[in-house]
Amino acid sequence: TVRTRIAPSPTGFLHLGTARTALYSWAYARHHGGQFVLRIEDTDVARSTQESVEQILASMHWLGLDYDEGPVYQMQRLDRYREVVEQMLAAGTAYRCYCTPAELEEMKEAQRARGEKALYDGRWRPMPGKVLPPVPEGVQPVIRFCNPPDGDVTWDDLVKGSITINNREIDDLIIVRTDGVPTYNFAVVVDDWDMGITHVFRGDEHINNTPWQINIFRALGAPLPQFGHVPVILGEDGQKLSKRRGAVSVTAYEEAGYLPEAMLNYLARLGWSHGDDELFTREQMVSWFDGSHLSKSPAQWDAAKLAWVNAQYVKAKPDAELAPLVAAQLAKRGITADDRLDAICALFKDRCETTVALADWAAAFYADVQASDADRAQHLTDAVRPAIATLADKLATAAWDKASIAAAIKDVLAAHGLKMPALAMPVRVLVMGKAQTPSLDAVLALFSREEILKRLQEA
Ligand code: GLU
Repeated sequence: TVRTRIAPSPTGFLHLGTARTALYSWAYARHHGGQFVLRIEDTDVARSTQESVEQILASMHWLGLDYDEGPVYQMQRLDRYREVVEQMLAAGTAYRCYCTPAELEEMKEAQRARGEKALYDGRWRPMPGKVLPPVPEGVQPVIRFCNPPDGDVTWDDLVKGSITINNREIDDLIIVRTDGVPTYNFAVVVDDWDMGITHVFRGDEHINNTPWQINIFRALGAPLPQFGHVPVILGEDGQKLSKRRGAVSVTAYEEAGYLPEAMLNYLARLGWSHGDDELFTREQMVSWFDGSHLSKSPAQWDAAKLAWVNAQYVKAKPDAELAPLVAAQLAKRGITADDRLDAICALFKDRCETTVALADWAAAFYADVQASDADRAQHLTDAVRPAIATLADKLATAAWDKASIAAAIKDVLAAHGLKMPALAMPVRVLVMGKAQTPSLDAVLALFSREEILKRLQEA
């Protein structure tokens, strides 16, 4: 069976790039009826936090990327890594290295001075007939992997095609640090092996790590997974998407009023395609995602496109499902919504890209509004005040439904010889704080009569 995983490091929020890789891994497993595993790579103890773990789990949940196993924490598997290291030491595929940092620096300095690539020179690597240096006192050793000294490492990457790296370009990797904590390249192999991972999707910044990992898999006699290295996501400026250049966390988009289904749709298309399809459901993605049509070149983030995708999902979402999301946004502003919210969503969702934008409109129904000075000056002229007064009079006694309100507005237009916009704009400014809204009768009908009379009073 196909088994995929996502292995975030808990050093921050769930990054959009990781979310996309998680989506591909998840969809691939679901497509093949396999399993998807979540692993937390928390061996960078100084930078890993519990808060970050919780944010990552929350974002996975929000996106609906359900996993069949996990979260598995690397720091809870130290005994297992130790066990494998002991086996490797015994088998001669790993060795202790007592080089001090100063010694290593000197080694690399000399290599650079000769114009060579800085690589560990293997001075502690046991070889038949070789005499190792005397073990220095008081130096905690690291453990290094005996990387094959030459020959090519080749794999058929699911995304990039065939990749070959010669072993002479890589050195004997540190697999356990002096503090006994394993390094990424080692722990990842033991984990992927133990977890029976068959397909690894990850960012292409890891391509240079893969030859080491393949060599370690081989040294352990473990079956190799297939690798698919997904290109980075570029920001709109063509640089790598990064925190300094705007929102890069899933959480930020959740807070900004994006819908998880729209995020998934957008992320999926960012680096993968199914013909010209732009909008598709989660189920469609699962049925289409077989690992083909993944793009080899970097995708560029397009905020406007994401907003468009989100707007399509907002528009299509049933009001009863939108309302609780908008209510949550309103709650953040200290506003408690009521049962009018479904109808408010129905009326405004066509013009909103996000649930935050919907909440901006909805807020006008629950709190006082303040139009801009420019709108007031332009629309709320002295000439129109008598007409607004007449409207207030009529509305004071009209039946309170959309049709009766429409009739009252029509009467006022006729009595004052006005065209619709001349009255509707200032009334909107007073009631909603904005000159552009959906049809006025529909908007007014969603308020109570008292509230409308109060808001018109001001004129
Ligand atoms: N913790 C690694 C990362 O966040 C995982 C890489 C992998 O999937 O192997 O990049």
